[in-house]
Amino acid sequence: MIRFDDVTKTYLRGTRPALTNLDIEFERGDFVFLVGASGSGKSTLMRLVLKETAPTSGSVYVAGKDLSRVPSWKVPSLRREIGMVFQDFRLLPTKTAYQNIEFALAVIGTPRKQVRRLVPEMLEMVGLADKGRRLPHELSGGEQQRVAIARAYVNRPTILLADEPTGNLDPATSEGILELLAEINGQGATVVMATHDQGAVDRMSRRVVELVDGHVVRDEEHGTYESTA
Ligand code: ADP
Ligand code: ADP
Repeated sequence: MIRFDDVTKTYLRGTRPALTNLDIEFERGDFVFLVGASGSGKSTLMRLVLKETAPTSGSVYVAGKDLSRVPSWKVPSLRREIGMVFQDFRLLPTKTAYQNIEFALAVIGTPRKQVRRLVPEMLEMVGLADKGRRLPHELSGGEQQRVAIARAYVNRPTILLADEPTGNLDPATSEGILELLAEINGQGATVVMATHDQGAVDRMSRRVVELVDGHVVRDEEHGTYESTA
């Protein structure tokens, strides 16, 4: 589903690469935690998958496509395959929960009739069926993240990237968010989540990939946050 083939990314010539000779593959249906200190390259890895930045050398493949061969006019359709969730939610502040989700469908031209079915369905899935009319600031952090996940997933992308999605949330709220991501993964999506949430990683016992200074130092099928080796 996602493959990095000897990828090095250097942002500024003469500086240390953000990622060095990265060789890694995420299969369809994987649930992967990306762990590592701030600056270890987790966000860069995600930005490469979204084709927000290009590798300095090596190739990135998403759903069988070599991203260097995806012309810029096709990047929007590539990104339609990928949902993205952020630590700071990034909801449109003047739009309701319903409208935030609706917006993701409107921009890709989804017919109204489908929108009217899909948005309530997603609100229901994320447990906010009765809060569609709330503005983001009228929702708790956990609820805002649920809206953001609903927006990211409403057009059923095959990949969901989450960059520290529980970074602003308390442990109990984080647990609910992880359950939601696990449910989405259970529906077949490949989920890649960068995180410092030790509790979440240890509880879930999923694949763990650890980066140190742009190098993969650990890749375990059922890993924990800290290396046990
Ligand atoms: P993480 O997500 O693990 O915190 P990043 O991928 O954001 O790591 O950063 C990896 C390295 O790349 C860091 O040294 C960071 O300073 C550098 N970096 C990230 N984005 C940029 C950028 N746009 N320009 C220059 N350097 C960057
Ligand atoms: P249309 O005008 O396209 O026929 P609707 O009548 O379904 O659409 O909805 C109009 C607006 O009302 C939507 O953009 C949305 O902001 C709001 N809305 C509709 N259904 C809900 C709901 N279940 N929860 C919250 N807001 C809703």
